[in-house]
Amino acid sequence: MRILITGGAGFIGSNLAKLALTRGHDIRIIDDLSTGYADNLVDCDIDFHLGKVQDPQAAARAVANVDSIIHLGALGSVPRSIKDPIASHHANATGTLTILDEARKANVTHVLSASSSSVYGMNPALPKHEREWVRPMSPYAVSKLAAEQYTLAFQQAYGFDSIAFRFFNVYGPGQRAGHAYAAVIPTWIDAMLKGEPVWINGDGQHSRDFTYVETVCDALLQAVERRLTHVEPVNLAFGTNTTLMNLIEHLTQISGVEPDVRHREPRAGDVPHSQAQNDTLTALFPEIFPTDIEVGLESTWRWMAERS
Ligand code: NAD
Repeated sequence: MRILITGGAGFIGSNLAKLALTRGHDIRIIDDLSTGYADNLVDCDIDFHLGKVQDPQAAARAVANVDSIIHLGALGSVPRSIKDPIASHHANATGTLTILDEARKANVTHVLSASSSSVYGMNPALPKHEREWVRPMSPYAVSKLAAEQYTLAFQQAYGFDSIAFRFFNVYGPGQRAGHAYAAVIPTWIDAMLKGEPVWINGDGQHSRDFTYVETVCDALLQAVERRLTHVEPVNLAFGTNTTLMNLIEHLTQISGVEPDVRHREPRAGDVPHSQAQNDTLTALFPEIFPTDIEVGLESTWRWMAERS
């Protein structure tokens, strides 16, 4: 199949592109390289378009003659969106609508998009069922909610097949540290490898449903290969519950490195707990199982250690 991956030079997108190539798909990518890296795609036989998803002309060229679109291109990070909400809105909300609209004009009617567990925001219910009320706490979460709702509304408005996946905390090889908005796992591994302090925002009891990138990519590709559609958002996580202190313990055990742990104030916009109800996911993908956090962290550690 010919698949467009938006944001394909990023962490999840480049893992996805590589997996899709091994399964014999033709891959086109549109990416503006704002947070992604061309060297994530070295030796990949892909059709790369440098451009922004919210640019209608670039989007029109990218969607032409593809069978399905996996839309990952977005500005991630809650703190980034708090600093510059307009930029996050343009890339994430306007960008999604632009990709969908150009897809509609090109008769490409299968689109998967990446939403986020952050849409649940202030809702304290655990685990998070897709039918729970949403109350975003950051411009990023609002932009993701808009993106997923556009993706789903195109089913009713234009007869699309689509899925809006709510990713939780995706981690794995290819996720980079060393920038202001880096995710917790690469940031901590990087600090441990360099013998620097490991900073915890808050008391370390915040918890997350960490999901291994390979598992996420497998679900995305299966959804394309089976042309799946679903009328409601789908949590793409497995209901695991790892506190930040648990994470430190796992990393210590895997690496044998004793971290210099320090605490500071929690960050604005961060939800205390995030855990998926995964009934919808397992009904749609009965053959996809979670990767144990120890296994995922070990391969992530190895990838980062090799590059350090
Ligand atoms: P990433 O930053 O590594 O990848 C995003 C890619 O999109 C980058 O290559 C970037 O250059 C590109 N991009 C950004 N703005 C663009 C624009 N306007 N036009 C074209 N390309 C653009 O992030 P990721 O972790 O791979 O995330 C992929 C998707 O998953 C994003 O939509 C993100 O919001 C969503 N998501 C990720 C997580 C996670 O834990 N990683 C959690 C929830 C949701």
